Amino acid sequence: MGMFTGKIGLVMGIANDRSIAWAMTESLVREGAELAFTHLPSPSSERRVRQLVDPLGPKVLLPCDVQKDEDIAKVFKAVQDAYGRLDFLVHSIAFAPPQELRKPYIECSREGWHLAMDISAYSLVAVSRAAAPLMPEGSAIVTISYFGGEKVMPGYNMMGVCKAALEHSMRYLAWDLGRKGIRVNAISAGPMRTLSSAGVSGFDEMREHAVRKSCLGRNVDPEELGKAGLYFLSDFSNGVTGEVLHVDCGYSIVGL
Ligand code: NAP
Repeated sequence: MGMFTGKIGLVMGIANDRSIAWAMTESLVREGAELAFTHLPSPSSERRVRQLVDPLGPKVLLPCDVQKDEDIAKVFKAVQDAYGRLDFLVHSIAFAPPQELRKPYIECSREGWHLAMDISAYSLVAVSRAAAPLMPEGSAIVTISYFGGEKVMPGYNMMGVCKAALEHSMRYLAWDLGRKGIRVNAISAGPMRTLSSAGVSGFDEMREHAVRKSCLGRNVDPEELGKAGLYFLSDFSNGVTGEVLHVDCGYSIVGL
């Protein structure tokens, strides 16, 4: 018996086996969770995600572009039909046009800013609203942030502003859903090589800097993010909501 045996979760944001959402999935599956999944509505995204999750036999694996309310509605309807409830939700989604990230923040376009905010921050509001009616008391939502939402990390630019909005949305959602017994938290992850991070200029320097500066003298491991996910999604964190947990080897506490 794992600590998630009998629990139903939805994981949004797997691109491939380097995705943070995949690290969460592996930890959750080891602990007995039954999972549903989404992928971006494109044949290549579907192929990549199917390859990974088909062996887990999900009852729900559906396309979902979080910019589309109708996609979100279909996913949560399918979850309701297949399982009747949802015990937890992993939101691990972000996007900013790469050309916007390469420019200084002051040069970012209105369109690029809105797009990045919609996908990277508003989507947490949209999916939490759709998930809440399916969630019994004791359920939990977790999202993934980065320290660039608290401090200026040169190169992270527009995405840092999105992460600031994401973290504060998470707190307001924690308030709105708290009286229903649903907790909402964020993991602020240290830099990991993934598809998304490839679009951030100076990302390799961020990883090197993290090794020099962090208390543990290294970068975070995917499994460590998976374990932090278990904490927020299980009753180990029953009294915790609206919190940002830095899983960054102690990078964020050092003032260098
Ligand atoms: P990833 O593997 O590329 O995951 C990002 C996911 O977002 C992908 O599955 C992507 O789908 C999905 N996505 C993008 N636009 C979407 C849309 N409109 N609708 C639905 N899904 C969409 O990268 P990751 O690093 O694991 O990122 C996951 C989260 O962790 C993000 O919020 C990221 O900002 C955060 N984070 C990452 C790091 C890091 O260093 N990697 C550090 C801290 C926080 P497709 O791939 O199919 O396009």
